[in-house]
Amino acid sequence: MKCEKYLELISLYLDKELDQMLIDDLEEHLSLCARCLALFHTMEKTVSLSRTYYKQRHCKVPRNVSSQIFYHLRIIYKKEKF
Ligand SMILES: [Zn+2]
Repeated sequence: MKCEKYLELISLYLDKELDQMLIDDLEEHLSLCARCLALFHTMEKTVSLSRTYYKQRHCKVPRNVSSQIFYHLRIIYKKEKF
């Protein structure tokens, strides 16, 4: 599987919508690929920050918050030609 595919898995993982089989696959890739691991940490941080943001304002966290972040990250990912 190519790195770009894992980007999608990371997004689903952070939304807790990833199957265990794919979690194993993702975790294995993250242990081998520094680039995806760095992206994973960036996304994890961004998602957690946006969740905090919504909570502080007593707003409901949108279910697809990480999908939206993922969408923007994918644009960056493509621009930088990883
Ligand atoms: Zn990778």
